[in-house]
Amino acid sequence: MEFIGTRGEGKVTGAEAVVKGIAEDGGLFVPASFPQVTPAEMEEMLGMDYPERAALILKKYFGEYPEEELLEELKKAYSSFEDGDPAPLVKVENGTFILELFHGPTCAFKDMALSVLPYLLRKGCELCGVKEKILILTATSGDTGKAALESFADKEGVKIAVFYPEDGVSKMQKLQMCTQDGENVSVTAVRGNFDDCQTGVKKIMGSEKCRSSIAEKGYVISSANSINFGRLAPQICYYFSAYLDLVSSDQIAMGDRVDFAVPTGNFGNILAGYYAKKMGLPVGTLICASNTNNVLTDFFRTGTYDRKRPFYRTMSPSMDILVSSNLERLIFELSGRDAALTAERMRSLAQTGRYTLRAEELKELKENFCAGWTSEDDTVECVYEFFTEYGYPMDTHTGVAMHVAEQYEKKREDDPSAEKRKLVVVSTASPYKCPQDVLYALTGNDVKDSFKGVKRINLLTAMKVPEAIKSVRYKPIRFKTTVSADKMFDELMKFL
Ligand SMILES: *Cc1c(COP(=O)(O)O)cnc(C)c1O
Repeated sequence: MEFIGTRGEGKVTGAEAVVKGIAEDGGLFVPASFPQVTPAEMEEMLGMDYPERAALILKKYFGEYPEEELLEELKKAYSSFEDGDPAPLVKVENGTFILELFHGPTCAFKDMALSVLPYLLRKGCELCGVKEKILILTATSGDTGKAALESFADKEGVKIAVFYPEDGVSKMQKLQMCTQDGENVSVTAVRGNFDDCQTGVKKIMGSEKCRSSIAEKGYVISSANSINFGRLAPQICYYFSAYLDLVSSDQIAMGDRVDFAVPTGNFGNILAGYYAKKMGLPVGTLICASNTNNVLTDFFRTGTYDRKRPFYRTMSPSMDILVSSNLERLIFELSGRDAALTAERMRSLAQTGRYTLRAEELKELKENFCAGWTSEDDTVECVYEFFTEYGYPMDTHTGVAMHVAEQYEKKREDDPSAEKRKLVVVSTASPYKCPQDVLYALTGNDVKDSFKGVKRINLLTAMKVPEAIKSVRYKPIRFKTTVSADKMFDELMKFL
């Protein structure tokens, strides 16, 4: 499959798209066209396990990767997930389906892609004849950082540097990152919010001067953020897998449309759902759920993206984002793949903080998506009520999506012309990832200590505490540096 850049530059292979991460003009790589999954392949996938399904999808994008090896690597990657199935679909008593994507080594959905990315990258370098070592540069709102560290730690020929907002991640997320093992890893706090970290990383990647200083040290830069297509592609697979699980458990017939509600930050997860739809998966509405940082809700309603607004710290920190990188890929599609227009909108976003869609683009947007947001109080209420009524504990990010999904369902019930459809809520983190907030939601109790939160949630819910959470408790803190956003590059050079 050939890839093109959203701002006009670059025709590359899948391997090159993964290795480069981002086009030289700052655009994002997208497939030249969307490969289709045929009805026969859908039937075939019914009998497959998760890695086999994922291999069938991924080989359509990464045709130059050896097929058998890809499958082997996927099997290996997902074997580290707890309890066998990496993406189980759980049916709750009231008929809601929850797609649990948090059974990986760091307990967040980022593991779904980041456990596969090292292979895509290593093989990609081999296929492209890249001899230099790779520097993975990552901005994180908490979960990408840990998942990337875990998957690249002590991998040969790679160094990884993670930047996170000093006060913008949960205590547990911070602890997970700062206790990371590995000789090739670096973790740095940045004074500012996630957008500052992300902008800082993109600046380094987009600067010729920075790139050549890094090249002098023998490295080329790549990204583990969802701007990298290698992050996005493995996420497409779980939309297919959830759908197939609905069919094989007789909840729907093949061809019925299904809605998905997704807790959204950088727009990577939900974009993968849109890509699945473009590949032929019968997806109805993609429900884009935000917290108080509701820039996307406004955008989907009005067609104007306006990042000039207050930034809130919430109890769903991985969604505290005002500039969603992957939206660029969506507006590229909506514009009829007009790279010049996309480039102009991105310039406008950087300079004035806003851009506006044309009426027909907004119409197409609304045919595929709906958006909503949830206040902190409603998130807490939703997590509490869901546990009290159905005994199912969910994390605060998932709580945001659940609440938005409930509002959406209510509206559809009142509309007699609405097609009856099953709804899947995508769960992105284990309740143990933000234990203090989850405990507060479940019981009203405020505890200062994360592990006290873990213990109480365990007593209350009887949900097993994942190894990844237990193990950080007694690990030494290795990384303590905090820098301002304009010093990120200097810090990086020290590390190299
Ligand atoms: C990253 C993350 C999100 C947001 O996902 P995007 O792909 O950035 O939209 C939501 N919830 C959790 C727990 C996350 O880690």
